[in-house]
Amino acid sequence: MRLIVQKYGGTSVGNPERIRNVAARLVETQREGCRVVAVISAMAGETDQLIKLAHEVSPNPTKRELDVLLATGESAACALIAMAINTLGAKAISISGAQAGILTDRVHTKAKIANISGRQIHELLADDYIVVVAGFQGQTPEGETTTLGRGGSDLTAIALAGALNADACQIFTDVDGVFTCDPRIVSDANKLDEISYDELLEMAGSGAKVMQSRAVEFAKKFGIEFEVRSSLNKNVGTVAKEETASMEDVVIRGVSVERHQAKLTVDDVRDEPGIAGRIFSAVAAGNIIVDMIVQSVSELGTTDLSFTIHENDLDAARELLEPIVKETGAAGLLAKSGVAKLSVVGIGMRSHSGVASRMFECLGKGGINIQLVSTSEIKIAVVVEESEVERAAQLTHEAFGLARLVPTASSTRPLA
Ligand code: ADP
Ligand code: ASP
Ligand code: MG
Repeated sequence: MRLIVQKYGGTSVGNPERIRNVAARLVETQREGCRVVAVISAMAGETDQLIKLAHEVSPNPTKRELDVLLATGESAACALIAMAINTLGAKAISISGAQAGILTDRVHTKAKIANISGRQIHELLADDYIVVVAGFQGQTPEGETTTLGRGGSDLTAIALAGALNADACQIFTDVDGVFTCDPRIVSDANKLDEISYDELLEMAGSGAKVMQSRAVEFAKKFGIEFEVRSSLNKNVGTVAKEETASMEDVVIRGVSVERHQAKLTVDDVRDEPGIAGRIFSAVAAGNIIVDMIVQSVSELGTTDLSFTIHENDLDAARELLEPIVKETGAAGLLAKSGVAKLSVVGIGMRSHSGVASRMFECLGKGGINIQLVSTSEIKIAVVVEESEVERAAQLTHEAFGLARLVPTASSTRPLA
């Protein structure tokens, strides 16, 4: 019998009607002859609501308690799904991440999975249960509850599919698959039939929240193929897998947008060994994640060093950097929020030239100023004004011919 892992995200279980819809789909999959493991997220908005509540009672909530609190969102949704399945006359049982054998490290709120013991799930499957696992949570060796970072139910699903040696892993969400750009930004974005792990990893890491990037990283590491598809229809989705030779024929697979960024520039800083180390050590000491880093050409022994961070970290970064700016004799620190990152991603970039010029030209024609540029082997990213980023994404999407020319009729595929 095939073993299938199906993950349903927050919007897909966002109200009682949707919960009943997911229950019916899980039962249908079982009746088609599969052993079914469901991974369920908290109902839409619930995790945000719990975080907000935590901050209303404490300016700096204890991370251990935050994990205990956040895990309740997934536990509640799971119990509701199991009830709805039982009402349809099938056997279901909801279990926590800990009961599912998910062991993590001790880093509360962003724990990494260390090991999964599939014994309990296999026993329940052998007993004909649809096993409904709470996503996004695990436990430390001491039995403390942990969570796996925002969007972490994707990781639960991928990791369980690997540990249980599942025949298929499906990530059901509120769109039909992975698109050439977020369909909420570019209305004629195209659904992709397939995407390589590396491309999806770059897209997820640069703002496309359709999959959690740690989940894609895990899938790539262990070669776990998965399909992203809709919980609201039976259309064929997007398969994420190891790259194939033909994938390089496409220059750009997709465009992604990351909002809420801030740009910092240390102005006229001495161009000497050790200075960059001091600047970034100060930022790292505040646990602030730095994204793009750009250093300008040295003139008269000084240079400008610019980098981006999340705008929520701007005040903390400024506080950490001001003393360093003084110590190093730099001319000043310029800080600017309200910027966003636009990225084009594709493994075809390795073998096609002219990608940067096409991107910069189309932004130039649109009157959009590029403030910073960074590249990887398969990505070009630019920082622009946040107010212009949607238009920039639409122009870039069009310039690379990613738009849907003729609306395609979607083919469907059974759930199992
Ligand atoms: P879930 O609750 O199912 O985990 P998410 O909200 O985390 O769903 O992710 C799905 C959302 O990701 C979509 O509604 C869509 O707006 C957004 N998204 C961003 N970029 C893309 C993309 N390239 N393709 C598809 N969806 C995208
Ligand atoms: N509920 C968690 C979140 O909102 C995990 C998830 O939905 O994947 O981040
Ligand atoms: Mg998600």
